[in-house]
Amino acid sequence: MHSFSNLRVVQHPLIQHYLTRLRDRDTPSEAFAKCVEQVASLLVPESTRDLELEAVTVRTPLEDYAGDRLAHRLVLVPILRAGLGMVPGFKHLVPDVSVAHLGLYRDEVSLEPVVYYKKLPADLRGRDLIVLDPMLATGGTACAALQYLKERQPRSLRLVCLLAAPEGVAQLEAQHPDVPVVVAALDRELNERGYILPGLGDAGDRMFGTEF
Ligand code: URA
Repeated sequence: MHSFSNLRVVQHPLIQHYLTRLRDRDTPSEAFAKCVEQVASLLVPESTRDLELEAVTVRTPLEDYAGDRLAHRLVLVPILRAGLGMVPGFKHLVPDVSVAHLGLYRDEVSLEPVVYYKKLPADLRGRDLIVLDPMLATGGTACAALQYLKERQPRSLRLVCLLAAPEGVAQLEAQHPDVPVVVAALDRELNERGYILPGLGDAGDRMFGTEF
């Protein structure tokens, strides 16, 4: 058991199945991308559990029905480039989303994350944002992305990843204790090159077939 208060590790046999396919170095790129999408879909219910509903009455073939629908349009924020692989899994289940793109790199001199690409709805105030990034490693990029988005005053923010390292979760909990983090697995540690162990390698390279 971990002791991170903002972390939810979603356990489900289908998630374990697809995660093992993702970790397997022999899984080809196309199948890898499909599994990313499938695990992302399986994380949707937990990531959207507390979205607000509003009342709506519809007419069944027999009578009126007082039902509910989502009160607000959700914004997905994939972190370039690997976050893109999680978008279809979310779009498959969440109606009518906006997809905002955010790219960050680490400046070689200052080592600070720098936003190099952004295409977001002009006004994020009052919007519910779900940040997608498959690998929460050191937490540097995720923390910078969350800070950038917080400055735009959304109503809510959460982060969804496939794998997390304890180091990254600790960093996130220190800097953004108010942001829930939903993951499919909490792995053991980071290696000296910043890769998650046991991990699955470079998620972007494997999903886009650029590892060699
Ligand atoms: N990013 C990846 O794609 N893989 C890791 O193990 C760490 C960061």
